[in-house]
Amino acid sequence: MEKIKTPQPLEIAVYGKGGIGKSTVSANLSAALAMAGSRVLQIGCDPKHDSTRLLTHGELIPTVLDYLRGRDAAAADPAEVLREGAFGIGCIEAGGPRPGVGCAGRGIITAFEFLDRHGVKERYGLVIYDVLGDVVCGGFAVPVRREYADAIFLVTSGEYMAIYAANNILRGIRNFDGDEHARVAGIILNRRSLTDEEGRVRRFAEAAGLPIVADVPRSDAFSQAEEARRTLMELPGCGEEKAVFSGLAQHVLRGPALYPARPLTDEALESLVLGTELRPSAPKARETAKAVAAAAGSAAPQPAGKAGSALSRPPLYGCAFNGAATAAVHLTDALVIAHSPRACAFYTWQNISSPGRKNLFNRGILMPSAISPHFECSDMTHAEAVFGGMEKLRAQVSEAVARKPGAVVVISSCVSGIIGDDIRSLEALSTPETPVIAVPADGDITGDYSAGIRDCLHILCEKLIDRDAKPESDCVNLVGELAISYNNEPNVRSLRRLLEAMGLRLNCRLLGDATCEELRGFLKAPLNILDSESADNLALRDWLTERYGCRFHPRPLPVGPAATAAWLTELAEFYGCRERAEALIAREMADYRAAVNALRPALEGKTLALTTINDDVDWLIGAARDAGMRLGWIGVMNYLRTPLRVSRDPEVLAVTEEVSSAGRIREKVQALKPDLLLTNYAGGEAAEGLLTDAVPSSPLALFGSAIPVLERWAALLREREKLGKRQGKGGAWRDDEALFEKYFA
Ligand code: SF4
Repeated sequence: MEKIKTPQPLEIAVYGKGGIGKSTVSANLSAALAMAGSRVLQIGCDPKHDSTRLLTHGELIPTVLDYLRGRDAAAADPAEVLREGAFGIGCIEAGGPRPGVGCAGRGIITAFEFLDRHGVKERYGLVIYDVLGDVVCGGFAVPVRREYADAIFLVTSGEYMAIYAANNILRGIRNFDGDEHARVAGIILNRRSLTDEEGRVRRFAEAAGLPIVADVPRSDAFSQAEEARRTLMELPGCGEEKAVFSGLAQHVLRGPALYPARPLTDEALESLVLGTELRPSAPKARETAKAVAAAAGSAAPQPAGKAGSALSRPPLYGCAFNGAATAAVHLTDALVIAHSPRACAFYTWQNISSPGRKNLFNRGILMPSAISPHFECSDMTHAEAVFGGMEKLRAQVSEAVARKPGAVVVISSCVSGIIGDDIRSLEALSTPETPVIAVPADGDITGDYSAGIRDCLHILCEKLIDRDAKPESDCVNLVGELAISYNNEPNVRSLRRLLEAMGLRLNCRLLGDATCEELRGFLKAPLNILDSESADNLALRDWLTERYGCRFHPRPLPVGPAATAAWLTELAEFYGCRERAEALIAREMADYRAAVNALRPALEGKTLALTTINDDVDWLIGAARDAGMRLGWIGVMNYLRTPLRVSRDPEVLAVTEEVSSAGRIREKVQALKPDLLLTNYAGGEAAEGLLTDAVPSSPLALFGSAIPVLERWAALLREREKLGKRQGKGGAWRDDEALFEKYFA
């Protein structure tokens, strides 16, 4: 037990279940304190905003939130929301949104920030917060934070739900204070004339280790005061009732003893208050799952629909809102609306437009939809986070539908998700030309970036794909392009060219720049091609197979000429166009060989070494060999201890070694002295003067994979030769100049 200290001002929170009489108790306590000479400020923290009504003699005063709506809080004047009530008591109501919309907790936070900013409380010696106690979000817990309440009173009657709410408040306090810090000043019993009322509250108080500091009798005097719109302290007579509040005021002014919050379990509370038998609590399903998972050596399973796996809990790579928006903007004729603050939309736009900018600056490829996606934002303000943003959003969606895009896709962010804005209700605004599709990504709440992409794709498929589309024999779909890959467009151009040469066409890209109509006709294609075999893509493949009976090419989009030739042959088997495929492969291979031969002078006879984390590098080795290079060594950093998959070629495997340290790589490279080391992990420090390059982690697909890589190596080796000739004639710093000219001149 601690004694209350006397900071300036002394701040007291009065918590209680809605309707339990905490406003009446607060107002009468404020009045008694003011009568005893204190300068009191009472702040009502209930969206009903009637805490101070008795003090203001019935006047409903403007709430802080209503006043701040649409105003700059820094320039606002607190005098507009502060009223002087009975006994000179300062009266403020925080206010809140209409029931069922917005976020009342956020409203309280806003009101408190405003009062702090303007130093309103400093003019008073004592502040009483009258707080709704059966709402348990963080906003309503603000007065409990240590920077606010010095002491907390719990108002309860003998009703079970009132005691239950008081116990819940103790839980909230313990979350802030832990088991030892003492700030609970005790229980105020506000009687309702129930059987065994005092006994119930006393048993709870004793079990929680708290005193009952005031016993407010059931009395008609309170109704009379209500009717007179006065505090009871202002009425004549009522000696017994007044004495309770005067006594409580003296108790506060003396500095009441404080106790740590020691809430009871639900079972113990029920047993104490209702006298039911105490049963040992059943093990919770979730805890059981955790225990089972722990016994199996893994983390607890993730809830369905969340990112992560039973084996690991990976970090979040961006939020679900970001992922969903990045996927949705690939519907080129849709309008995507982010129901979010503008910062979320800006950050997402940066992400979406990044590959478009790179393609424009580095390759001269203009992708208008990437540079300037059809992406709008509801631009949620602080007021909408408090009062709800559906009104403005509904108007924006109606206006968007009137423009007749292929679809309007609305994606929720953390903010709109937390306050419960119901974006699904907007689907009623759909017209025959323009469906409205809600994607409740809710920012980070429902998972990470990948989960956002996955959920958005599932929703778009479910809403748009026409299950009755007639199959057509000459087309394929491409599925699972990386949402922001640099190589999507060049790959799709190559794929279209090859398909066209075989008399085929690309039907739909799920989802890389497709129209709503193309997605509707997704099932026209009898075969689908997976862009890559990432875990997300494999899951998408399985989902499409199960959901729509889709068939897939057994191999994903290939990398390198040899793999592409084999892949095209398999594709031709399916579509019955073998001869065209053979002719095409012969032409492409001839072009490839001609390009390689042109690079031979720079590459032939050079030794290559590389390190990898067990990626398949056969295409890379194949290109090097075609150019006459020698493979010296491959170091595999196989951290995941998976079966070796770098190559299927025995000659390559003969020079492959699993390594576990950079030291071993250094040792090997120093002994081998390769002309070029390809590595993403251990680089230039391996040997002085060593020429290094990266292993392409996301190479171009199809026949075009190898040539840009060989060209780059040839350029590096030629530069190196030139540098060697320049050594002694000014030094290597000149290369910086060369690089500068290359990129910025
Ligand atoms: S995590 Fe939430 S707040 Fe942050 S960008 Fe995503 S939606 Fe916005």
